[in-house]
Amino acid sequence: MAEIHHLPSRRRKPGCPICGKPSAEKNRPFCSPRCHRIDLGRWLGDTYRIPTDEEPDEADLLAAARERDSES
Ligand SMILES: [Zn+2]
Repeated sequence: MAEIHHLPSRRRKPGCPICGKPSAEKNRPFCSPRCHRIDLGRWLGDTYRIPTDEEPDEADLLAAARERDSES
């Protein structure tokens, strides 16, 4: 029930943070340039995509609040 997927942490073996495979020396800490790009994408893409998606919501709320203000 409480079985959570643990990261492979046998000894201090450096592994790819993306897929957990052993990292290649020239791509450390990643196993391949592909995983490096995935990690970059998480930082630049996913992280910044979330606030952009929420922006219309916030604008909607503000617009709704202003409408209510002008009504009452
Ligand atoms: Zn990898």
